[in-house]
Amino acid sequence: MRYIFELCPECRDKLVERNIDDFQEYHESICPNCGSMMHGVLFGKKRAEDAIYKITLNKVRDISKHGDRCFDIIRSISGLDKEAVIEKTGIGDCDIFEGDLLNTYLVLRELDKIEYMIHYNVTPEFPYAREFSMMCPDCGEEAEYRVVYGKDEEATGGFFCKRCNEWVMYTGFCRADVDETEYCIEISAEGIENDVKEKILYDIGLLWEKKIEGDSIKARGQSVEIRDILAMLEAYNIPYIVTPLYPYEIPDMSSIYKRE
Ligand SMILES: [Zn+2]
Ligand SMILES: [Zn+2]
Repeated sequence: MRYIFELCPECRDKLVERNIDDFQEYHESICPNCGSMMHGVLFGKKRAEDAIYKITLNKVRDISKHGDRCFDIIRSISGLDKEAVIEKTGIGDCDIFEGDLLNTYLVLRELDKIEYMIHYNVTPEFPYAREFSMMCPDCGEEAEYRVVYGKDEEATGGFFCKRCNEWVMYTGFCRADVDETEYCIEISAEGIENDVKEKILYDIGLLWEKKIEGDSIKARGQSVEIRDILAMLEAYNIPYIVTPLYPYEIPDMSSIYKRE
């Protein structure tokens, strides 16, 4: 059994424990307070315990560039001022926080913003994996995941910092690669040579949903999954129908298929 703890991003008032067999089956629930979509924030194999976690700062390093922000965050967590933190971390460890699971989680999120400037320990060891997040190295805000569609068929996806108005990390891809539309292909294999039919059936076989009755083949798949099948159908001039209409360019593979 696996446990997911959900938190409402608006209310941030309590963790809701849910248990499921497999993380793949997880769907967010709705906050009963405000109706927002809850976020799964902690993942693990343990139920919640009444543990109190302690966070100890061992070291503050390389604070030349964003030092003030670093100490602002530490002060808001611990109530200790900059001088006290520098003095304590200079002679050993400095306890900055003690609290329950929810508050420890919230503090760890704050510490993520200055993660590259500090070293800390949690005792007892924090028992859950946290959701992936990306912090902007320039301002420390959490970057949000977004996909921006450009002209033609290009798109950019990655983590974007709203405060700096800049990508923190991104990658370019084709719109067809991220299209989640289910396309339905209908093929009539009547009169097609057997070896060609076999090739088509092999590719169709890789699709999740398909129905083959004699010469009539019906299958469903996303744009990336059906792209090569369409290329093959085009190369052999085999009639087919795609619904909705396939909006992307179909690669010209006639030379590859016809040569074989
Ligand atoms: Zn809420
Ligand atoms: Zn930023």
